[in-house]
Amino acid sequence: MQSSAQTVSPLIAGLRCRCPRCGQGKLFVNVLNMRDRCDACGLDYKFVDTGDGPAVFAIFILGFLCIGGALVAEFEFGVPWWVHVMLWGILTPLLAVFLLRFLKALLIALQYKNKAEEARLSKE
Ligand SMILES: [Zn+2]
Repeated sequence: MQSSAQTVSPLIAGLRCRCPRCGQGKLFVNVLNMRDRCDACGLDYKFVDTGDGPAVFAIFILGFLCIGGALVAEFEFGVPWWVHVMLWGILTPLLAVFLLRFLKALLIALQYKNKAEEARLSKE
């Protein structure tokens, strides 16, 4: 039996912030708040438990990009200090929100596809 989970790529669902089962329904109410269920297929999002995963990945990726960018701006172009403040003060929060949204949707899609959940000793 082929499930619909195999037809939706977790990467595409993550990039589009869509339902991990049907790839159509929106995952978020606004920026980072989850909906209760999928509007298109009715998948209940109660199973979602990404924990700190998206934040950890976002910190590592963003730290590399922003510190690397600041070093290049300083030593390649010699920009004044106020350009650093303006550039990284605006770019870092924007990139953080984008990355958190994408990574949260990606980890939800991967959790759904791989049926990841807490280990249990017996079936209830
Ligand atoms: Zn759906």
